[in-house]
Amino acid sequence: MPDRTCIGCRKVRDKSGLVRITVDLGGMLTVDKDGRGGGRGGYICPSDECLIASYKGDKRCFARAFKGDVVLPTMDDLKLAIKEGALLNKHINQ
Ligand SMILES: [Zn+2]
Repeated sequence: MPDRTCIGCRKVRDKSGLVRITVDLGGMLTVDKDGRGGGRGGYICPSDECLIASYKGDKRCFARAFKGDVVLPTMDDLKLAIKEGALLNKHINQ
């Protein structure tokens, strides 16, 4: 299993424990629900702490992960999407 770094806490974890986020064609950050989204991507733990941490510091975490500015949804919207993504992850990995 490949390891990935969470953009929130910067911990390296197994990919299956993280949610993949990617950028859609409009430059908007979105959760890569089926793991097939191409292009730039980042990973985040499905936890509130990591989400909050990643929005801190002028959202530099996202800029670093995506090598440029991205359009961010509100933290609540992203939180919902991450929860959904984590559920799907579980489903896929069982
Ligand atoms: Zn994390």
